[in-house]
Amino acid sequence: MKKRIIILGSTGSIGSSTLNILERDLSNFSITLLTANKNYKKLIKQAKKFNAENIIIKDKKYFKYIKNELRNYKTKVYCGNISLKKIIKKKVDYTISAIVGIAGLYYTIEALKITKILAIANKESIVCAWNIIYNLSLKYKTKILPVDSEHFSIFNLTKDFSDNDIEEILITASGGPFLDTPLNKLKSITPTQATKHPNWKMGKKISIDSANLMNKFFELIEATKLFNINPKKYKIIIHPQSYVHSIIRFKNGLIKMILYNTDMEIPISNTIYGFKSDFSNIKNINVEKLNQLTFKKVNIKKFPSIKLLNKCFKIGKLAPIMINAANEELVSLFLKNKIKFLDIVNSLLKLVDDKEFKKVSYKKVKNVDDIYLYDNWARLKIHNISVK
Ligand code: NDP
Repeated sequence: MKKRIIILGSTGSIGSSTLNILERDLSNFSITLLTANKNYKKLIKQAKKFNAENIIIKDKKYFKYIKNELRNYKTKVYCGNISLKKIIKKKVDYTISAIVGIAGLYYTIEALKITKILAIANKESIVCAWNIIYNLSLKYKTKILPVDSEHFSIFNLTKDFSDNDIEEILITASGGPFLDTPLNKLKSITPTQATKHPNWKMGKKISIDSANLMNKFFELIEATKLFNINPKKYKIIIHPQSYVHSIIRFKNGLIKMILYNTDMEIPISNTIYGFKSDFSNIKNINVEKLNQLTFKKVNIKKFPSIKLLNKCFKIGKLAPIMINAANEELVSLFLKNKIKFLDIVNSLLKLVDDKEFKKVSYKKVKNVDDIYLYDNWARLKIHNISVK
């Protein structure tokens, strides 16, 4: 029987990579749902090509046009935030959550209720709402698999071990496009320069987060949520080649690491095929390049985003939700050329030192509405801090 698949954020980088994988093996899969925000052209193309059962476009203004374009297809078209339980009656086999930002939380939660496996790339949902996601996964018996390359690797390396067995976990960072750029040149970085990652092809938001290492801030928090390991054991290390995705130093003297090509199809595909993907003839790592693996400490002066981690762990648990929201706003302002590249992290550092922010960080999050409440609070607050 064909496996039924949902791709949340199908028009994005992770969503498109997922469809590439499925396209190579279409006799074994059927597409139950694809979603997008505004890219109606790509969504229509995907719906036709993959004979999707359902599609959702977030932005209502494209709804009628899409419906008309697909009038001769079996695809049902929806828009906005709807209940997935209402349109998908039978549990699907696999869902990938690949919407960018906290916008991905709504459908991540909806998908938890109707899927057997939920592969999560949308790190912002994990960072902001892990307790809610985890409790729902228990309630609905949904298996959660991390897709982010570092977390996919940590998951594989630590699944048969406990915190007691582990001395240290190193999360690797490529250092992004400005690893070797002098500090004084960072002032004038443009959005085009910042979205050109040397090793990975990704969406704009995560590319900016990678350029100033905010991505590592989120990934470290993401790891502390996903794995039952003392947060103090995580460290970030620069590894410009991006072949090694994480390194685990075990107490028994062994060090283990996972290496693979800088291609998100590898972790995604392994979550689809239960870690039995076949990349033997497709994308092999060139072993000769392993002679040139280098590792070095993060230059905190150049990448002060890493300082946020210490500050964040010293205040209330709400801090990551608010830092994520503020960062989303700042990235969007930078992409519109309204603030400078360095303003992103400088504003976040100001935010975490703000008295009011610290006070709010100790509030309790009881449900998803609370997450949206404090997310909104931080968005308004960061505008006061960053845009004069
Ligand atoms: P992209 O920007 O390439 O794609 C984002 C997807 O989300 C698109 O389908 C987009 O639709 C949709 N989307 C955007 N805003 C909204 C919204 N408000 N409501 C509903 N849908 C929306 O992002 P990536 O694929 O690069 O990243 C997706 C997630 O995966 C992120 O959380 C990222 O951190 C994570 N990730 C990505 C990696 C990568 O290599 N790209 C690696 C590891 C993690 P539309 O096209 O219509 O705008």
